[in-house]
Amino acid sequence: MLTEAAAGSVDDINAAVETAHRAFGSFRSSLPKDRERILCKAAELLERDRVEFIDILVDEIGSPIRKAAFEVEKGLSFLRAAAGMTRQVTGKTIPSDVPGKFSMSIRSPIGVVAAITPFNVPLIKGVRLSCNPIALGNTVVMLPSEAAPILAHRLARLYSEAGLPEGVFNVVTGNGYEIGDTLTTHPHVRMVTFTGSCRVGQHIRELCGKHGKRLTLELGGKSPLVVMEDANLQQAIAGAVQSIFMYQGQVCMGASRVYVHENVFDEFVAKFAGAASGLGIGDLRDPGTIIGPIISNRQRNRARSHIEAAREKGANIVTGGDWIDNRCRPTVLTGVTPDMTVFAEETFGPVVSVYPIARLEDAIAASNDSNFGLSAAIYTQDISAAMQYVMNVESGMVHVNGGSLHDEPHVPFGGTKDSGFGREGTEEDIEAMTEWKWVTIQMQ
Ligand code: NAD
Repeated sequence: MLTEAAAGSVDDINAAVETAHRAFGSFRSSLPKDRERILCKAAELLERDRVEFIDILVDEIGSPIRKAAFEVEKGLSFLRAAAGMTRQVTGKTIPSDVPGKFSMSIRSPIGVVAAITPFNVPLIKGVRLSCNPIALGNTVVMLPSEAAPILAHRLARLYSEAGLPEGVFNVVTGNGYEIGDTLTTHPHVRMVTFTGSCRVGQHIRELCGKHGKRLTLELGGKSPLVVMEDANLQQAIAGAVQSIFMYQGQVCMGASRVYVHENVFDEFVAKFAGAASGLGIGDLRDPGTIIGPIISNRQRNRARSHIEAAREKGANIVTGGDWIDNRCRPTVLTGVTPDMTVFAEETFGPVVSVYPIARLEDAIAASNDSNFGLSAAIYTQDISAAMQYVMNVESGMVHVNGGSLHDEPHVPFGGTKDSGFGREGTEEDIEAMTEWKWVTIQMQ
C-alpha cells in the first residue's frame, strides 16, 4: 500500500470552509507585493523539490516520468503567472452624467473558492485552481481526487513553507460523491472551480445554479485532429501521437478522433499505427516510457468495453486492443461507426479512431458531430483551409499544425458544449474571481 488518507467528512468540509472564510477577513486586504512574494517563493520551492513532486506523480497516479516532469513545468508556469496577476487587478474611471461626480469601479476579491480537481493532472490543476484565486486575495478549499491525496497534502505544505498565511489554502481529502455537495452548496463558498467528468460537472452546474454560485467547469472531451492532403505527414503523426497517447490517453484534450484526407489515409494509418505500437510500456521512471497503468478498475473496464464493443461490431483494430496487466497497449481503430461506444464517448485511455474524409467540409462536419467541444487541431499548409476550420469548428480551443494538447497560463483555456462552462486563464480568472464595486464621489 502506498498511503492511507483521511476520508474527510461533512464536518471536515464545514470546518475547512469556516477556516477559509475567517482567513479571508484579513487576506482580502493583503498587499499585492506580499501575495506576489509568496507565489514566487512557492515556484522556487516547487523547482527545489521537483524530484519529490515527480516521484509522487509517478507513485500515486502512475505517471510516466516525462508526463510527471511536464506537470511540474506547467505548475511552475502557473505559479509564476499568478504572481504577475497580483498587480493586474485594476479598476476603471467612468464619466458621470452628474456635474462634479467622480465615478469609478474597483475590484474586490470574492471570498472562499472551492477548487475541485481530477486524478489525471493533480499538480497542474491543484496549482492552477489554487494559485489564481490566491493571487487575487481569495481563500481556497480544495477537494482533490480521492486518487491523489498525497499530492494535495504536499501542495499544502509547499504553500505553507512559502509563507501563505494559515487558513488561506485548505485541503479536505475524501470521496467527492459523499462530501462534494456540502462544499459546493456551503453558504460561505462564493465560487466553484471544477475540473473533472461531465457527469459530476453537470451535477455541480445544477447545484451552483440553484445556490447562486459563480462557476467554471473544465470537463471531458473527444477532441478531433484533422490531417489534410497537403499536411506535413511526419509532423501530423508526431502531433497525433503526442495528443492521444500522453499519460496513456488519460488526458482531457486527447485527440481521440483523427480525420485524415482519403488520399493520404492509408499511409497515415500505417505510419501512425507503427509509431503507436513503438511507444514504451516499461518502467515508469524510464524516460522512454509513455504508456503506464490506467488509474482504476472502473476506468479500465470502460476502456476495455469500448475496445470490445468496437471489435464485436466490426471495427478494424490496426494495432493494440490488448493489455499487459493494467496497461492498455496503444490502440488504433479504423472502420468505427456511430453504433460503437468509442465513436462518441470519452474513453480516457490510449484508444483512437481514424476516419477518412474527402473534403475540408466533411472534416468540419465530422468534428462538430459531437457533444464535446474542448480542443481541436488541423494539419495543413493551406492557410485558407486552416482558417475555415478555425472559424467553423465548435471547440473552445483549436490549433493549426500543432496537437490538440496544449495549455498556457495566460490563454482563455476551456471548452464549449458539454466540455465546459467559462474559461480559465489569468485575465479570465481576474474577471471570474473578483467582483466589481461601483464608487462615486460627489465633489463640492
Ligand atoms: P471525476 O468527475 O470522477 O472527479 C473529479 C473530482 O470531482 C474529484 O475530486 C471528485 O472527488 C469530485 N467529486 C465527485 N463527486 C462530487 C460531487 N458530488 N461534488 C463535488 N465534487 C465531486 O473525474 P476524474 O475521473 O477524476 O477525472 C477525469 C475527467 O476529468 C475526464 O472526464 C477528463 O476529461 C476531465 N478533465 C478535464 C480537464 C479540462 O481541463 N477540461 C482536465 C483534466 C481532466
